[in-house]
Amino acid sequence: MIDQRAIEKFKNLETPLYYYDMDLLKRTLELCRRELDKYGYKAHYALKSNINKRILALIKEYGFGADCVSGNEVMWAYEAGFAPEKIVFAGVGKTDKEIRQALEIGIFSFNCESTAEISIIDELAGEMGKKANISLRINPDVDAHTHKFITTGKKENKFGISLNKLLETIEAIKNCKNIELIGIHFHVGSQITDIDVFATLCEKVNVITAWLKDNGLHIKSINLGGGLGIDYEHPLENPIADFEKYFATINKHLHLDEGQEVHFEPGRSLVAQCGALISRVLYIKEGDNIDFLILDAGMNNLIRPALYEANHDIINLTSSEALHTYDIVGPVCETSDKFASSKSINGAKRGDLIAILSAGAYGEVMSMRYNLKDIANHYYSDNL
Ligand SMILES: *Cc1c(COP(=O)(O)O)cnc(C)c1O
Repeated sequence: MIDQRAIEKFKNLETPLYYYDMDLLKRTLELCRRELDKYGYKAHYALKSNINKRILALIKEYGFGADCVSGNEVMWAYEAGFAPEKIVFAGVGKTDKEIRQALEIGIFSFNCESTAEISIIDELAGEMGKKANISLRINPDVDAHTHKFITTGKKENKFGISLNKLLETIEAIKNCKNIELIGIHFHVGSQITDIDVFATLCEKVNVITAWLKDNGLHIKSINLGGGLGIDYEHPLENPIADFEKYFATINKHLHLDEGQEVHFEPGRSLVAQCGALISRVLYIKEGDNIDFLILDAGMNNLIRPALYEANHDIINLTSSEALHTYDIVGPVCETSDKFASSKSINGAKRGDLIAILSAGAYGEVMSMRYNLKDIANHYYSDNL
């Protein structure tokens, strides 16, 4: 993903920087599109994983809609050219302003997470003389077998409407004149690598749709969210998520009625592998037990290791020395500002270029200015 030409360019650039391989992104989108089309599925890209305009433009070109979790994301997607009828809006805490913005442009669906929220959307839609399409985000109590901070579909998580509350929610919607219930929505977690989780989710969804049907509700749209994991351990050998197996699993397990649509919200699986955080070695410090490799990139640029104990593969782009083991850390004044413990990479010296791989999702978009550090620039493979 990072060729010699790119490395030569990096040598003249200020680091840290984000680098995006647009060819890999293209190949990823192509494959995902092909597998979606096999079954007539629709997908909305989860904007929160990466909001760069060029990346959005390419994703839009491949026919994806947008999945947003704030009013600003809805507007960002709209301004990037995503058609309103392909925009969905989730989140447990939508503000009145955000709801009004989405009503104004006329999005495909509010993915609603509580009855309290639904009644506010009803009220605001009424004031604006609009009708709001909504889907119920249901918490199916499915364990995603992923890190606890990115598990969203267990009953103790804040997300979605509990199965126990479904009946009363549906009753409440009957009194909402400005609401059209078009679908149900699920998103049980992120970086899910156990494909059985999706089979289990489908089995739960089947029970729910059958129950809704018994209660006289025909649901047009079933949205299964995102969450497909990627290979953080071997990104170079395995750069594209297994879309084929994922959609085949859904197709095998999900029961559909005539005319029912299936929607997805992939984020990480589309953009994670095309991005890398490029950094320079500042210092090598001999510790008592291990050497510290101190980079100019830190948790301010990529917070995933500190926030979720995430592991990224890391390579030395400018050394062919024998392997050496380091604790790889950033410059920020926090102990959790550490990218890897006891990581073997080619022996490093000051000035070497280091790539932290699989950083395209939840990387740059989560950058911050803690310690008053600069925000890193970004570059694309096709205009380096
Ligand atoms: C974050 C999120 C996604 C995307 O999840 P990935 O793991 O990046 O695929 C999809 N839907 C909702 C509602 C989300 O919050």
